Amino acid sequence: MEYKAYVTQNFKTIPQIKQLSDEQVQAIEIVSSVLPFKTNNYVVDELIDWSKVPDDPMFIGTFPQKEMLIPEHYKKMEALFKNGAGKSEIKKEADKIRLQLNPNPAGQMEHNVPVLQAEKLYGMQHKYRETALFFPSQGQTCHAYCTFCFRWPQFAGMTALKFASKEAGLLLQYLDEHPEVTDVLFTGGDPLVVKTEILASYIEPLLESGPPSLRTIRIGSKALSYWPYRFLTDNDADDLLRLFEKVKRAGKHLAFMANFNHPVELEGDTVKKAISRILETGAVIRTQSPLLRHINDSSEVWAEMWKRQVSLNCIPYYVFVARNTGAQHYFSVPLVETWQIFRQAYQSVSGICRTVRGPSMSCLPGKVQILGVTEVGGTKVMTLRMIQGRNPDWVARPFFAEYDEKATWYTDLKPAFGEEKFFFQDELESMLEPEEVEVVYE
Ligand SMILES: *Cc1c(COP(=O)(O)O)cnc(C)c1O
Ligand code: SF4
Repeated sequence: MEYKAYVTQNFKTIPQIKQLSDEQVQAIEIVSSVLPFKTNNYVVDELIDWSKVPDDPMFIGTFPQKEMLIPEHYKKMEALFKNGAGKSEIKKEADKIRLQLNPNPAGQMEHNVPVLQAEKLYGMQHKYRETALFFPSQGQTCHAYCTFCFRWPQFAGMTALKFASKEAGLLLQYLDEHPEVTDVLFTGGDPLVVKTEILASYIEPLLESGPPSLRTIRIGSKALSYWPYRFLTDNDADDLLRLFEKVKRAGKHLAFMANFNHPVELEGDTVKKAISRILETGAVIRTQSPLLRHINDSSEVWAEMWKRQVSLNCIPYYVFVARNTGAQHYFSVPLVETWQIFRQAYQSVSGICRTVRGPSMSCLPGKVQILGVTEVGGTKVMTLRMIQGRNPDWVARPFFAEYDEKATWYTDLKPAFGEEKFFFQDELESMLEPEEVEVVYE
């Protein structure tokens, strides 16, 4: 299948666009001048149900929506378009708005960059002891862009925020010096946008001369959902599967971390065939997704998604809370409601699906899981715990926040029982180098 990308400049050539009103088309143009927009022929023809547009979840998940910009920002951009503003004027205003959308959540840039011989490795992140993240420099894009993406600044050309590495050698050296790292997670963007040959140039050295402490190669990808032909008919699809087999043959685990936001993405024959081919290599597919308003804010959708995943031999892994960046106000669901949806879905499936963990917030101290709402000594509280922590000793200790129905993120929460701080707060502050707390964007 031939890949065809649709972006702001050419999306009007999509035949189905004709059914949208002029206002809807204009809204796509205006919002996509601020937030990145890219989709493709597979998403348009196979995933979106155009009879359900504008409410179709896959449409909302890939086509910019008017309400993704707050009214004030939308009006500003709309006025520029109406007055026939030039490209540079539009870009200038768009950049201003982008900087107000928290482009760098959870301290990704300033706190997690590993250091090797006093040099910062900007193509890597190392936040949790066992797992190092690696960003192949050619993989800083995706086959389509999710409208709720938390890495949107990379795609919006805010180049100062890009972190990407060409240094396979540095990765090896880092692993040698850090035997506590058992997992390398290739991420992006989508590392499977990268040609197999290049991906192999990163992975094969790890297999051939990586330390024995390295046990798992993880690949985080949305290709199964947005471009399953990557495993079927792309020129180097077979080579990619051979590379997966090599990982297995080298005695390592290949963990394919697949992103699915809606059961529709698991429906067609194309994705099913692609999943089979990946599993035949000995890889294991684990699945994850944020819980998002307008896309999957219902327990039935989640239960159905997990059941389909299990039927296809995939293992449900994470449910995330929508991050505090970009169009969070449009996609976010309050933490209490997120937990209720999670719980209802979790209750309704068998234990085989309950490998899933969540709802989890990826925030500054770690991955904070909402265990639930309960009463302690007559006080209504939210129970939380860390699934991952900057300090591994913080993991799996229950802690309590004041009940807050409106809170959408960990930073909205206050410690319960009149406590001043959460138990990890002082230590967290002392771990973050003070001169780095302020982020400077260019
Ligand atoms: C989620 C995450 C990981 C992986 O965590 P697991 O619980 O092992 O899947 C690693 N690094 C960062 C920065 C993460 O956000
Ligand atoms: S696949 Fe991931 S990185 Fe790519 S656009 Fe979607 S959320 Fe962002």
